Amino acid sequence: MKLTFWGAARQVTGSMFLLETDDDYRILIDCGSDLDSKSAQNGQEGQPQKSDTGFFPFEASGINVVLLTHAHIDHSGNIPNLYREGYEGQILCTEPTFALTNLLLQDAASLNLKRLNELGKSKKQRVRKRLAELQKDLFLEKQVRESMANVVPIQFNRKFKLADNVEVTFIPAGHLLGAAHILISVYENGQKKTICFSGDIGRKNYPLLSDPETIPPVDYLICESTYGNRLHIDAQAPEAVLADVIRRTCIDIPGRLIIPSFSVGRTQALLYTLNRLYTEQGFPPIKVFSDSPLALESTKVYQKNLRILNKEAKTYFEENESLFDFENFEYLESSKASKEVSNYNQPCIIISSSGMVQGGRVEHHVATNISNPYCTILIIGYCAEGTLGWRLLNGQPTISVKGKDLPVMARVERTDVFSGHGDRDDLLRFVKQQTPDRLKKVFLVHGEFTSMSAFQQTLVEEGFPEVEIPKKGQTYEL
Ligand SMILES: [Zn+2]
Repeated sequence: MKLTFWGAARQVTGSMFLLETDDDYRILIDCGSDLDSKSAQNGQEGQPQKSDTGFFPFEASGINVVLLTHAHIDHSGNIPNLYREGYEGQILCTEPTFALTNLLLQDAASLNLKRLNELGKSKKQRVRKRLAELQKDLFLEKQVRESMANVVPIQFNRKFKLADNVEVTFIPAGHLLGAAHILISVYENGQKKTICFSGDIGRKNYPLLSDPETIPPVDYLICESTYGNRLHIDAQAPEAVLADVIRRTCIDIPGRLIIPSFSVGRTQALLYTLNRLYTEQGFPPIKVFSDSPLALESTKVYQKNLRILNKEAKTYFEENESLFDFENFEYLESSKASKEVSNYNQPCIIISSSGMVQGGRVEHHVATNISNPYCTILIIGYCAEGTLGWRLLNGQPTISVKGKDLPVMARVERTDVFSGHGDRDDLLRFVKQQTPDRLKKVFLVHGEFTSMSAFQQTLVEEGFPEVEIPKKGQTYEL
C-alpha cells in the first residue's frame, strides 16, 4: 500500500493523508484547511486554498472513504470542498466529532457569506472580479448540510470493517471532545499491517476530557509534533492559574478580566474550571460573561456527551447537577448584549472569541478595554504572527484595533494550561508505547520544521532510528 502526505507536512495545519491499498481502496484521513498560508495569517480564514487544478491534488471522486480524527477546522475544514469536487462517499468519525464539526463548518460558512455580502457592497471593478471568483470558491451553509448528511458516527474502541481487507478503530486521544487516534489494519499479500494516525494528541488531566488512551503495537505511526521541541510553561493546575489571575484582577483591584478563547473546547474547559472555583473555593460571585454564540452551541454538545467526559467531571455533575451553569454566569447571545457589556461597571470576566484576537466579538472588548489599567487580557492559546493577540503578547505600547491607534495600558498575560496539545514529554510517551523492534517507521507531521527535527533527534536518541519528516506530496510504500 501507499501513503501520501497531502497536508500538515512540515507545517502545523491542513491535515490530510491518503492511504491507498494494493487493490486500489483509497482512504483519506482528515481533510483540513491550511491556516498557515499568508492569507489565513492576515485574518482571512475564509480564503480557499485552491490551485489551478482545484482544491485537491488528487481526484476527489476516486476516494472510497474519509476518516476524521477530530472536529478542529485544520482537520475538517476542506470537507465541503471535497464533495463539491465530486466525492460521493461517507465520512466516519465519532458522534461528538460529527456534532462539533457540523457547528464549526456552519460557522465557517456564515463567515464566508458575510465576506461575500461585504464585497457585494463595493462597485469597484477589481472587487467585483474578486467577488465573482470567491462566489465559486467559498462554501456556504447548503454545502455544509449536504456534506454532513454523509457522516456515519461510530463508537470509540469498536473495530469497524471498511472493506474485505481493511479495518479501522477510533481510540480516545484527549485533546477535544470526540478526538481520536485512528488505527487502520490492512491485510495484503497474506500479511497484516497496522498504521496509527495520531490526530492531535491531548494531555493528561485536562479539564473535562478523559486522558488519551494507549494504542496497541503498530507497524507505522503518523505522529503530530506541534510541541516537539518544548514543554508547557505552566506546571500549575488550571484552577490555580485562573484563581491567581482573578484574585489579582477582579478582587484585589477590582477590575475586569478578558479571556480571548476559541469557542469550541477551550471555552468549555474555562467555564467548568470557573464553576469549580466558585463552588469549591468560595470565590465571590464575580460576573462571568460568555460572549460567543458558537460557544453556547458547543457547550450543549459537551453536556450531551457526559458519558465520555473524565471521572472528575462526572462526579462533579452528580454532586452539582451542572457543569457549566452557575449563578453569576450569563451567555450573551445578541451583538447588542455583547456591546452593552462595555457599560457593565462591576468587576467581571469576559470570555469571547477568537482566541487569536483576530475577528470575532473579542476585538470589540479589547478595543474598549485596552487603555484601561484595571483590565487584564489573558491569552490562553497560540497566536499566529501578525494577529492582534500576537501583537499584544509582543508588548507593543500602542495598538491599532478597528482602525484606531490605542495606547496599551491593560496588563497582557499568557498561560498555556488550557492548551489541548500534549508537550514534548507527552509526545515521547505516546511514541514509547511502541517497541522499536516492531515499529517500522515514525512519520512526523503537524508541526513547524524546527519542532519536527528536534523531536526526530529526541526519538533517535530514545532508540527509534526510523523517523521521517515527509514533504507535502511525498509518497511512501508501506
Ligand atoms: Zn486539534
